[in-house]
Amino acid sequence: MNLETSIEYVKGIGPERAKLIKNVLGISTVDDLLNFYPIRYLDKSKVYKISQLQESGIEIQLKGKITSLQEIQTGKTKRLAAKFNDDTGTMDLVWFQYSKWLKDQLPINKEIFIFGKINVFNNQFSMPHPEIEIDEKKETDNRLKPIYSSSEKLTKRGLNQKFFQTVLRNICREIPNLIEENMSEYMIKHFKFLSRQHTFLNIHFPKDLEHVDKANYRLKFEESFFFQLGYALKKLHHKTQSHGNPFPIVGDHFNNFYENHLPFDLTGAQKRVLKEIRLDMKKPIQMNRLLQGDVGSGKTMVALLTMLIAMDNGFQSCMMAPTEILAQQHYSGIKDLLKETDINVRLLTGSTKKSERKIIHEELENGELSILVGTHAVLEDKVKFKNLGLAIIDEQHRFGVAQRAKLWAKNKIPPHILVMTATPIPRTLAMSFYSDLDVSVIDEMPVGRKPIITAHRREKDRLYVYNFCREEIEKGRQIYFVYPLIEESETLDYKNLMEGLDHVMNFFSSYNVTMLHGRMKPDEKDAAMNYFASGKAEIMVATTVIEVGVNVPNASVMVIESAERFGLSQLHQLRGRVGRGAEQSYCILMTSDKLSAESRTRIKTMTETNDGFKISEVDMQLRGPGDILGTQQSGVVDFKKLDLVNDSAIIKLTKLTVEKILEADPLLARPDNQIIKNYYVRHYKGKNKWSKIS
Ligand code: ADP
Ligand code: MG
Repeated sequence: MNLETSIEYVKGIGPERAKLIKNVLGISTVDDLLNFYPIRYLDKSKVYKISQLQESGIEIQLKGKITSLQEIQTGKTKRLAAKFNDDTGTMDLVWFQYSKWLKDQLPINKEIFIFGKINVFNNQFSMPHPEIEIDEKKETDNRLKPIYSSSEKLTKRGLNQKFFQTVLRNICREIPNLIEENMSEYMIKHFKFLSRQHTFLNIHFPKDLEHVDKANYRLKFEESFFFQLGYALKKLHHKTQSHGNPFPIVGDHFNNFYENHLPFDLTGAQKRVLKEIRLDMKKPIQMNRLLQGDVGSGKTMVALLTMLIAMDNGFQSCMMAPTEILAQQHYSGIKDLLKETDINVRLLTGSTKKSERKIIHEELENGELSILVGTHAVLEDKVKFKNLGLAIIDEQHRFGVAQRAKLWAKNKIPPHILVMTATPIPRTLAMSFYSDLDVSVIDEMPVGRKPIITAHRREKDRLYVYNFCREEIEKGRQIYFVYPLIEESETLDYKNLMEGLDHVMNFFSSYNVTMLHGRMKPDEKDAAMNYFASGKAEIMVATTVIEVGVNVPNASVMVIESAERFGLSQLHQLRGRVGRGAEQSYCILMTSDKLSAESRTRIKTMTETNDGFKISEVDMQLRGPGDILGTQQSGVVDFKKLDLVNDSAIIKLTKLTVEKILEADPLLARPDNQIIKNYYVRHYKGKNKWSKIS
């Protein structure tokens, strides 16, 4: 027998059961079975008495007899109830879902042990869906019992907890030498790991809870370690193998702009990040860098300066944004900053006119165009560059992997890639899933920014809120009103938006109100946006189209309607639309009176902090890492043991460990690292379904 052996040949299984197990649980080899971890453990060393019961919710074992059985019909549903007696009292056992088979096989008037969670119902203790063991068949050893995720379909055919417990214990005992070690001796000693054999033994046949913890720790470590190792090796490979155009020069374009046209001093963080990027681009290796920075931290300026360096080295740049509005904003922003230079910048989106398109195509190919700003449109095959040296992707999570790959192919030697995120990513996620990118963080806001004041208000406060807005307008400020727009109920939301618009126009009848939503045509959107940005309209009523990147520094109040319907990162993005100028800005979260616990946490987090990194952590706790990464990357987070929310210490530790190992031995060539390398090659290499980020 080895790990690849079909479970059919395992003692006690056979072909028929093997087939069933494969169908129900997807387990086909001995190795699969070993990796079928218990979902929890029962402590069977203790037997409670009914008279001792004090609280519900705990899992316990009792010994006694079922004295009677009764089916109870309430409405359409049936449940099965049994009276269970020990010498100190009586309680009910209850099954809400059960088959005739279960009913028939319950042992009446026999000494049994029951295990399960204690419940309180009608002021009485009861135990729903207990596990039952008949006394005379009960095992004498009192170790912790692993409980596997099973189903009635399996149980009915004799594949109950006892079956899995026995089979797995036997495997662990019979083939310990087949469970191969995958950590170096040094690591095992240093981290005080159980050996790999003892890990599996204690997972399936634990000595005590302390050993379960140790085994779990090791399995989590392994998962994180090999995951990190995969990324780190990929990154290392990239650095030694992948060509890039070196940009050794910082020349006239950069210097002229920096000295004569920079409208403000860079923050320390912007300078540091720029230096990191420059160092990267000096090398003849393609840069793959993630630029993280909170909303409003000034990523755009870093992007522009980076593009100027590309230009100084004779290369073209392109900057890609996920929406038309955002591309337009970047374009006009950059155009404005460069207005006193002769640098050629153009915008390419889905709605660019044919004549303009033609010019863009020509100028890109003959090299006259230095900077192209656009949407997905820049990815089209028709768009060919003379020498694309740098591609900047703003708000990366909205772009698919395949689209990014297209950018690579736009030049013979792939362009340097700078990916900018819309919102900060939780540390553990950044450490895990962006490990093949180098990360730069802008962790400082431009000086003079006043933290945005955020308040939670309800419908009854509306008049107060409106009056407050009016006062701000009188001071010369501008206001956003944002309404939710969620796909499923688009019609309803549209109606809400229109009613909101009416309402606002009525109350603020002496001011100009403009509107922006997703159903408008691109040129209508532009017109609305310009009307507001130029200050002609004091108020903009909008849906979340303005979520990403919109920049109107004079807008100082953001009223978010039905704020409970927005996710945290969305709220944070929206709030980031104000607080961009020198004035004190406000964000007002309007909600209904009744809020779910989760909504309350979101609103509370928003009113308590402006720190996007903190907000992203809370967001991950609420939504889980899969949702944060987005559909592009979903599936990457199916670790069996590792929990990205709670195991950040392990993730940090494994990252450090991988770095240390590869620093000393980048090819894993040392004898003591062979064990790691062999295991990695056999189990992980090529199997990474997590995808490259850029
Ligand atoms: P984000 O990082 O969210 O993309 P932006 O690049 O849009 O942020 O910058 C937000 C605002 O801050 C812009 O109006 C920009 O001009 C301004 N800004 C950027 N850097 C600085 C700085 N060092 N000092 C002052 N204002 C800055
Ligand atoms: Mg931005």
